[in-house]
Amino acid sequence: MSIRDNLAAVGGDIARAAERAGRAPEDVRLIAVAKTKPQSAVVEALQAGQMIFGENRVQESQGKYPDLRADWPDMELHLIGPLQTNKTRDAMALFDVIHTVDRPKLVRALAREAQALGRCPSLLIQVNTGEEEQKAGVLPADTEALVALVRAEGLPLQGLMCIPPVEDAPSGHFAFLKRMADDLGLAWVSMGMSGDYPAAVELGATHIRVGSAIFGAR
Ligand SMILES: *Cc1c(COP(=O)(O)O)cnc(C)c1O
Repeated sequence: MSIRDNLAAVGGDIARAAERAGRAPEDVRLIAVAKTKPQSAVVEALQAGQMIFGENRVQESQGKYPDLRADWPDMELHLIGPLQTNKTRDAMALFDVIHTVDRPKLVRALAREAQALGRCPSLLIQVNTGEEEQKAGVLPADTEALVALVRAEGLPLQGLMCIPPVEDAPSGHFAFLKRMADDLGLAWVSMGMSGDYPAAVELGATHIRVGSAIFGAR
């Protein structure tokens, strides 16, 4: 299967899952997660019409994307991995959307850089829905306060993101995150990966992050 074939297959799954849930397929954005894959794989996806890409490292992305922007002005780049405060400026210069805002210190760094740059990527807050010790993300109980801080700083907060614990059935986490986003008045819900994106679409995902189902195993 080529990257083009894989994109078509994932697109079909999205359409069917959306239909089952009575949703419009175009309300679901497919983020093609190209981490660890070469630039040639990204180009192959672009040539197949895929315009939205996800990466989890700032440095890897700096080597892969800047020279593609000229040829593909509609390309959109999403940061889906943890962001260190000292990488904030580089991340804001490169990414259109950051999914992993998860602590006050990072919010303040983003606000400082937004002042300096005169612009800010769209932001999502990562919620640690499984309350896992090692995992990034703000705890559910602390999410409302972090949302309030991002809004008070005047930053463009759009939604919530989660990565369910590997050992759990994801659906409970997806339903929980969607309900939280609704309660907080946030329109975007980033959830679902290669193993579970149809369920995420059925439960209200607006952004799904799919890597290996498009680009093959890492
Ligand atoms: C790698 C990654 C994905 C994609 O995972 P696949 O299982 O390859 O689809 C999605 N979200 C995040 C945060 C990731 O790091």
